[in-house]
Amino acid sequence: MRIVHWLSMLLAFLLLGIQGQQGAYAASASEIKLTFLGTGAPRPSLSRYGPAILVEAGDYKIMVDAGPGMRERLFQAGGFEILTAVDHILITHLHFDHTISAPGLWLTGWLFGRKTPMKVYGPTGTAAMMAHFRAAYDWDIRYRTVVGVHEEGSQLLGTDIQSGVFFDQDGLKITAFDVEHMPINVATGESLGLEGATLGYRIDYRGRSVLFSGDTRSTASSQIIPYGKGVDVLIHETQVPAIENSPEAILANVSLSVHSSPAQVAHVFEQTRPRLGVYSHIIPPEMTAEALLALTDYDGNMMVAEDLMTITIGDELTIGRAEGAGTDIFTQADVVDD
Ligand SMILES: [Zn+2]
Repeated sequence: MRIVHWLSMLLAFLLLGIQGQQGAYAASASEIKLTFLGTGAPRPSLSRYGPAILVEAGDYKIMVDAGPGMRERLFQAGGFEILTAVDHILITHLHFDHTISAPGLWLTGWLFGRKTPMKVYGPTGTAAMMAHFRAAYDWDIRYRTVVGVHEEGSQLLGTDIQSGVFFDQDGLKITAFDVEHMPINVATGESLGLEGATLGYRIDYRGRSVLFSGDTRSTASSQIIPYGKGVDVLIHETQVPAIENSPEAILANVSLSVHSSPAQVAHVFEQTRPRLGVYSHIIPPEMTAEALLALTDYDGNMMVAEDLMTITIGDELTIGRAEGAGTDIFTQADVVDD
């Protein structure tokens, strides 16, 4: 498994002329740094945690999705420093594998030093979900503030957003767009009537850009194609059908109509031609990089993300691994203002 992983990294270096890099947390002034904290989906996996990607641009530290295990992977990558620094979360949609660690990051970051509110953006229903989380942990917050934890930073602010630019400051622009992840009748293509919305995001910073597909099926009208044209890094989900005939395989395949096969992602990459196409949110999580690449008929630069992999987007695309960059002993971390 490890050998396969490093072989795929080596292949990426050869194909892209990308530089390897270890450690060193923050991106430099005009770069975007991505840290893949979880590259899996709802199915538990010890190698691919739930979907969560940290974006660092300038002074901003933004989490895209908050899947299972995100808090632990973030701590693994950058210790208490990064755990207390992230104060924005972008949610692509309200499935548990994209939201369940939002309260974990909000409360842990606050408890160990963050004094800014946690700001969460997502589709319709996000503000209500965050209000429910706030209500669920009301006793926890009152308890801890009574015993002396600072109250600042305990706020959880959810905002419902629509497609379009919703954040534009300090050179950082974030655009949301609709993606197609709502349930449909597979035979007719008609909606099954569930209300709600699912989003993808594009982040632009000083001439660098990254697009997150969110969870989506692929169709000719996909908004990923216009928003993804010319982007530096395009991160796309994928699901490979199970070919067994067990009840488990049949259940696993229920979601095929709301996800994208590797052949469909190849089409998206072909239409958008990013500097680098990346698979993350991989179903099933045990798919190897080699198997996924073999299923993807695309001649451009692409790779399969691994948990804790980093991509720094600058003049070069630099691939690295985030681990142990911060302090893991709280009393030595220097993260609480006097
Ligand atoms: Zn998902």
